[in-house]
Amino acid sequence: EEKIQLLKDNIGAIQDFPIKGILFRDIFTIFLEPKILQACIDIMIDTVKECSKDIGGIVGLDARGFLFGPSIALALKVPFIPVRKAGKLPGETIKESYDLEYGSNTVEIQKNSIKPGQRLLIVDDLLATGGTLKAACNLIEKVGGITDSCLVLIELTALKGRENVPSKVVSLIKYD
Ligand code: IMP
Repeated sequence: EEKIQLLKDNIGAIQDFPIKGILFRDIFTIFLEPKILQACIDIMIDTVKECSKDIGGIVGLDARGFLFGPSIALALKVPFIPVRKAGKLPGETIKESYDLEYGSNTVEIQKNSIKPGQRLLIVDDLLATGGTLKAACNLIEKVGGITDSCLVLIELTALKGRENVPSKVVSLIKYD
């Protein structure tokens, strides 16, 4: 609890970014202070060990999921697998598109990066509407993996994003 409060106190908030009316939560403030970054990674690892069993891989979401995923994967001694925005991954990929408020987004995973039946934990920095996590869950299903759960540092609870995600969601810090 103390460590969570330390993290909460060290997350930046920027009004009107990237557009007017949005209060943007900036997690990079955590990375400016090694002790706080260490606390953040430690809590994430402890949470995964507590909440999830038999995890066979960590799926990190482009781009800020990449900041946490590999450290969790190393602690669990399991592979780290990236899900990227379209056009970034080489080789054979599977795509999933989802709607945004304006327009749409496409994410991709490498076909050979997941084994059939592999149990995966998805990690990202923040849950807003849940569209991104839902797309990642769909991708994992398409390549034959199983989503055990999703871990995010921050959940914007007022948006009720977890209701859109077809998996258990664990969040460390909540804002309205
Ligand atoms: P969702 O798909 O609406 O849940 O949006 C989540 C995605 O948007 C995540 O990949 C976040 O990195 C990004 N995102 C949305 N709002 C914020 C914010 O306030 N700060 C940082 N990232 C955000």
